[in-house]
Amino acid sequence: MKSEELRTVDNEHVWHPFTQMRAHRDESVPIIESGDGFFLTDVDGRTYLDGISSLWCNVHGHRVPAIDQAIREQLDKVAHSTLLGLASVPSIELAAELVRRAPAGLMKVFYSDSGSTAVEIALKMAFQYHAQKPVPEEQPRDLFACMQHAYHGDTIGSVSVGGIAIFHQIFGKLLFEAVQIPCPTAYHRPDEYSAAGYLEFCEQELERLIVENQHRLAAFIIEPLVQGAAGMLMHPPGYLKRVRELTARYGIPLIADEVAVGLGRTGTMFACEQEGVTPDFLCLAKGITGGYLPLAVTMATEEIFDAFDAEPEEYKTFFHGHTYTGNSLACAAALATLKLFDTQQTLENVKQNTQVLTERLAELKDHPHVGEIRQKGVMVGIELVADRESKAAFPAAWRMGHRVTLAARRQGVIVRPLGDVVVLMPAPGMPADLIGQLCDVVFAAIDEAIRLQVA
Ligand SMILES: *Cc1c(COP(=O)(O)O)cnc(C)c1O
Repeated sequence: MKSEELRTVDNEHVWHPFTQMRAHRDESVPIIESGDGFFLTDVDGRTYLDGISSLWCNVHGHRVPAIDQAIREQLDKVAHSTLLGLASVPSIELAAELVRRAPAGLMKVFYSDSGSTAVEIALKMAFQYHAQKPVPEEQPRDLFACMQHAYHGDTIGSVSVGGIAIFHQIFGKLLFEAVQIPCPTAYHRPDEYSAAGYLEFCEQELERLIVENQHRLAAFIIEPLVQGAAGMLMHPPGYLKRVRELTARYGIPLIADEVAVGLGRTGTMFACEQEGVTPDFLCLAKGITGGYLPLAVTMATEEIFDAFDAEPEEYKTFFHGHTYTGNSLACAAALATLKLFDTQQTLENVKQNTQVLTERLAELKDHPHVGEIRQKGVMVGIELVADRESKAAFPAAWRMGHRVTLAARRQGVIVRPLGDVVVLMPAPGMPADLIGQLCDVVFAAIDEAIRLQVA
C-alpha cells in the first residue's frame, strides 16, 4: 500500500489505544515502517529519534543484532507451544535468569503477555493466597491498597487498583474496592500544607490506613519509586522501604509493579533494589523483551506459592492462564535482552545518561513555564504550568503537552506527554550524544509551543 492509502485505511479501520479517533484523523501521525538503533522511519521516509522507548518498552534499541538473532534461532526451532501440560526450553531458561537477577526470595515465575495481566495475576494470586493459608482467617480479605494516581493497566482488576480519575470513573460500577493511599509528592499538595508537612501527613496516612484495614487487605500494590503514568511522580527516599516494613508487620503481601520502572530505567535493574526491598510479588512487562514482543511475568515468593501447593483434588490450583503464556519467541527475546545488560554494561550507560540528563535539565530550572522537573535515572517528567508561582495549569483545551509533542516531531523527535507533563524516557541503552539531541529538540519544542500559544 502507498502512504496515502495506508493513511486512509488507518483512519477507517484501525481503532488506536487511548486515542480520540476524531483528533487522530486530523493529525496525520507518522506511519512507521522501519526502525534502526534508536530511530524510527515512517513511510514517507522521515526519520525520528525514539525519545520514549516506543512507549517505555524499548531497551537496547531497534533491530539489535543479538536480539534479532535470538528470535531467528528460536524461530528455526518452534515459535510457540503451550505451558499447559507441556514445558518449553526458553521459558525455563528465562525463569532461571529472572530468579537469579530479581531481589532474593522471588522464586516463582508466572508468565503472561502484558503489564495489565501481570498485575491482574498478582491481585488474584494474593486474594487466593489468603483463602488458602494454613490457618484460615475469620474475615475474607477483599480489599486492596493502592496509591492515589496509580496506574497498573487497563483490565478491570488493574483499573480497580488504579487512581487516575478519568480512567477509573467511567468503569466505576464494574470495579472492586480499593483504598487509596495519598501520593507522597510535595509539588501537588493541598494549599494548607508545607512541602515537608505534606510528606509527613502522607506517612501518617499510610500507617493509619494500613492499620485500620489490616484484616481486610489482600495486598498493597505500588509502582516502586516512580508513578509513571501519573506524570512521573517520584516518591521520597525511604518511602518504599516504609511501605515494606508496614505491610510486613501486618502480614499484607506487597505487589511491586515494575512494569515501567524495571529493566534498568531507574539506575538499577529493579527499582526495589534501591531500597533493599523484596516484595511478595514482582510484575514485569514492557521492557522485558527489549520492547520486541509481548511478554510479562509475575514473580512470587515461596511463601505465596506454598499456599497453592496441594493435591489436584484439593482444588488449590491457580486457575488462570493465557493462551500465549510463556511464548517461546518472546522468552528468547527476553533472554537476549537480559544478557545484553551484561555484555553492553547497560546499567553503567544508564548511570552516565542520568548524569547527562541532570546537567541538561538544569537549563530549565528558571524557565517561567516549567513548574517542576522530576527525574529518576532516565525517567523524566517536565511539568509545564501557566504560572510558576501559583502553579496554575494551562487551560486543558490548549493541550500544551501535546503541542510540545507536535513541535518536537517536526524536528524529528518522538515524545508523548502525560497531560502537560513532557516525558523523556530514552531507552536504557541509548548513547549519550543522542540524549543530548533529545534534550536540544525537546527544550526548543517547549519554547516553540509556548511561544505560539501564549503570544
Ligand atoms: C504500562 C503499565 C502497565 C500496563 O502494561 P500493559 O502492557 O500496557 O498492559 C501496568 N503498570 C505500569 C506501572 C505501567 O506503566
